[in-house]
Amino acid sequence: MWRYSELLPLPQEYSASQPIGGTPLVRSRNLSERLGVKNLYFKNDAVNYPTLSFKDRVVATALAAARRFGFKTIGCSSTGNLANAVAAQGAQQGFDTCVFIPGDLEPAKVLNTAVYGGRIIRINGNYDHVNRLCTQIADKFHWGLVNVNLRPYYAEGSKTHGYEIAEQLGWELPDNVVVPMAGGSLIGKIAKGFCELAHLGWVEPKRVKFFGAQATGCSPIADGIKRELPRFVPQKPNTIARSLAIGNPADGPFALRLIRESGGWAEDISDSEIIDSIKLLAETEGIFAETAGGVTAGVAAKLIQQGRIGKEETTVVCITGNGLKTTDAIAADFPASEAIQPRLEAFEALLSEQLKDAVNA
Ligand SMILES: *Cc1c(COP(=O)(O)O)cnc(C)c1O
Repeated sequence: MWRYSELLPLPQEYSASQPIGGTPLVRSRNLSERLGVKNLYFKNDAVNYPTLSFKDRVVATALAAARRFGFKTIGCSSTGNLANAVAAQGAQQGFDTCVFIPGDLEPAKVLNTAVYGGRIIRINGNYDHVNRLCTQIADKFHWGLVNVNLRPYYAEGSKTHGYEIAEQLGWELPDNVVVPMAGGSLIGKIAKGFCELAHLGWVEPKRVKFFGAQATGCSPIADGIKRELPRFVPQKPNTIARSLAIGNPADGPFALRLIRESGGWAEDISDSEIIDSIKLLAETEGIFAETAGGVTAGVAAKLIQQGRIGKEETTVVCITGNGLKTTDAIAADFPASEAIQPRLEAFEALLSEQLKDAVNA
């Protein structure tokens, strides 16, 4: 992402210490065929360095600002991935870190934060409670909380996800992007990134349609779009897509406006559809995404079926996090098989049993 340093709010002569961003844009072969579309791509931040989500980008720009402002302690309010990224980059850059998370986060996300050695404060409440507390803490303790008092610097990091999409399409903008929405920041910054590239003359200006994706159990922005409300109505989150479980999204009003003005739309899918979509994406494209990726892929499929995304158009689906962090969401679908003896007959017996099962099924 640092190839775009001139377009980011970094201190002069800033020297980046980690190779973040530069993730693959993968052209769909199988899922596109199944859905009947020609030009479908996945921007795969599930393999972002160092903590396997797009949050590595935003923490990179936020910590550059934290250093410039002289913060010694940094932190965040997080639905999981942000805490991972803050803990890892904070450790590498020698900050004291203290992250705040809802008490019921996925164990893998908590472990992926704890391993870096910073402090973790679990809060009895949902993300919206955590975030409110963090605004008070940032003020009182003079800590740099990346998505609270450093939020403008944090948000700019998301633009690089958009710059890379345009670059990887051969310096062209897509017709559509499908973006997961939590606080509603990423979707707007991809749009801002596209505008800046057009302004610089690096791509032809083009009206890109922005499509927002949420889980039905926490869909304030999608609900606002679908019911054509002037303002979204906050919700109490209840979904397995914990990384998107923000009931009162800070950038929700901007996301609503962007989606409407771009001619796009927003949709949501249920928890069981999320699980099916995680499996479908893995089986067709070999991409193991977290629950948020299931949301985006499933919503993209829905939008294609609704005819809101055209068959000939170029569509980029943003995969923002890695499936290894949310294995509990799908574990029940994959019970461990029984181990067999290390003998050929045992394998042959198993194989014929499986054939029988397949025939009966
Ligand atoms: C944070 C997050 C998002 C959404 O980010 P916002 O900018 O808050 O809308 C999407 N996907 C994953 C995996 C995330 O962790």
